[in-house]
Amino acid sequence: MKAIIGITPDYNYELQKYMISQYYVDAIKKAGGYPMALFDDTDFPQCINGLILTGGGDVNPLLFGEEPLVENGEICPKRDEFELKLCEWAISQKIPLLGICRGMQIITLCSGGSIYQDIYTQTDSKIKHMQKAPRSQGTHTIEITEGSLLHHIFQQRNDAVNSFHHQAVKAVGKDFFVSAKSKDGLIEAIEHKTLPFVLGVQWHPETMTNHIKLFEMLVKKSVGNK
Ligand code: MN
Repeated sequence: MKAIIGITPDYNYELQKYMISQYYVDAIKKAGGYPMALFDDTDFPQCINGLILTGGGDVNPLLFGEEPLVENGEICPKRDEFELKLCEWAISQKIPLLGICRGMQIITLCSGGSIYQDIYTQTDSKIKHMQKAPRSQGTHTIEITEGSLLHHIFQQRNDAVNSFHHQAVKAVGKDFFVSAKSKDGLIEAIEHKTLPFVLGVQWHPETMTNHIKLFEMLVKKSVGNK
């Protein structure tokens, strides 16, 4: 039986519309899993074998005790609230979890870490993390931590990834470690120290054909979970 991989949709308040990029759906299917959209509720779907917290807008700074900077982008309180609870539940249930871009920020806040609201006002980064190149193209390099799950998956220490973010992880949460950094020292990937697959990446692997390996590993770890 195929592993059911839950995915979180984005939500548009004005249109009252849930939205999921087809890239996520296709990546899960290509990796051999069955994608299932998860809608905000106080209950969580016991049937899922794995979970992807998808990309999207900024996390509400009030959730981590900060006033919004002028640079703060679009926020979606309904999504924040649901994903933080869902993430906490998934980790407690040891469900394999991949957090993508915003999803990595959610994992971090859920586990007691901290984030930058805006890297260009809060760090000295001179690297472009909001690329103008096509989504399929890696535009800045990362260095992968030796012995990490990412290292195991990609079998290399250096790679180029795409980049569509102005927020980033400042400090990883409890029981997490940094598994990739960009040249400006920003955290580009995080992993849980003991759980078999809880991984956050700052880039968008669903639009990079050679990063299907991440989804394949998620599906592999999810098969037979439960
Ligand atoms: Mn980046």
